[in-house]
Amino acid sequence: MSAAFLGMPPFPQAAEVAVHNTTLRANLRHATHTIRAKRARAVAELSDWEQLREAGRQIKDHTLRHLDRHLIRLETAVTEAGGTVHWAADAAEANRIVTELVKATGETEVVKVKSMATQEIGLNEALAAEGISAYETDLAELIVQLGDDLPSHILVPAIHRNREEIRSLFVDEMAKWGRAAPQGLSDSPADLAEAARLHLREKFLRARVGISGANFMVAETGTLVVVESEGNGRMCLTLPHTLISVVGIEKVVPTWRDLEVFLQTLPRSATAERMNPYTSLWTGTTDGDGPRVFHLVLLDNGRTDVLADEVGRQALRCIRCSACLNVCPVYERAGGHAYGSVYPGPIGAILTPQLRGTGSAIDASLPYASTLCGACYEVCPVAIDIPEVLLHLRAGIAERGGPGHRVERVALTATGWVLRHPTVLAVAERLAAATRALHPSRPPGSGAWTASRELPEVPAQSFRNWWQENRR
Ligand code: SF4
Repeated sequence: MSAAFLGMPPFPQAAEVAVHNTTLRANLRHATHTIRAKRARAVAELSDWEQLREAGRQIKDHTLRHLDRHLIRLETAVTEAGGTVHWAADAAEANRIVTELVKATGETEVVKVKSMATQEIGLNEALAAEGISAYETDLAELIVQLGDDLPSHILVPAIHRNREEIRSLFVDEMAKWGRAAPQGLSDSPADLAEAARLHLREKFLRARVGISGANFMVAETGTLVVVESEGNGRMCLTLPHTLISVVGIEKVVPTWRDLEVFLQTLPRSATAERMNPYTSLWTGTTDGDGPRVFHLVLLDNGRTDVLADEVGRQALRCIRCSACLNVCPVYERAGGHAYGSVYPGPIGAILTPQLRGTGSAIDASLPYASTLCGACYEVCPVAIDIPEVLLHLRAGIAERGGPGHRVERVALTATGWVLRHPTVLAVAERLAAATRALHPSRPPGSGAWTASRELPEVPAQSFRNWWQENRR
């Protein structure tokens, strides 16, 4: 994962700081509530939404079950169409491949389409270490890059910023990266968008190398798909001489018919649109049209380990729509940075600990960054049962010696033994009833979880005892 996130504190500590930032909370509340309401309206327009959701789930599951076959088919089709396919087992290998490809062109600048995969591997930092400047061209990514900030949302990485903050950033930072912000820039969305457009235009026209991810890869024809709203992606995918796409292996779909399902569910779930303003598709290279050279880097980076987990593998269905973030009460209050990963929110809480493992304190804390309310599952367009995976990951952490597990295990073993022995249970009940005045009202421990909970009162008489006296 991106080095930028390494060394961050576990979720509870990071969230505690974040919830005291009232500007952040106001920005997040406004943004997530607006998007979630629009999404609900867009989804309600489709009478077959549940069928589309189920179709998406099945297509993804079936594809993942035969992933090896579909990837080989994809590689063959891309190669036949004039592209070159590279396989990267981890972030270091992917970064090395891309860096060498860019160096071979002799260029020191690249333009980028918004891509989660390249953020996941920390590609910009790897390129910078070799003297190559990577310019983000998505508006929100540009805001994050200019602010030397970290993304906090999958779809709207600068969701934690408001308009005035963005205006100041443009005025202070744009000149250091290229064309300066216009004089007297206001914080109106139209003015900010125009400033970004002018700043980016010179980069699009100069760049000889473009780097992208992809939302989908169609195996039958070797076609890659990027959906976006701003048109910056279209510029990066068509103007440069060389195009390098870094894509997670789970993004493959077998056929164009499968794509049809996701092109309906993704835009409605992500931006509440009926279809994306820009849907770019390319198959290898085409004479006289678009890039002359195309490289596809297929990225594993932990995905095959996720695939091996029968419960956890459903996280690989994710189409990165962000709907689960926008409805999550924990994300709304803690914000994206607290998750210490490019994948924040509910999907981050299940994907990051699977991709990175739960060896670090932050990764082991992520499956607990949830109230298990289930809102994420309700909105997920590919029906990922996020609460189920959270509980599965928590069980694994507890098994491997997570916090408090010894006390819990002793208590549960003792309880199990008592429940299996009716005579002992009867004695325990009578004892508990006789000493009820001495029982504490709260569970032992000093954490916030125990402080906010009360223990149930022990009745003066157990049901079993009452039954024996009254109904025998
Ligand atoms: S888990 Fe589901 S709702 Fe969340 S980003 Fe992925 S596809 Fe969207």
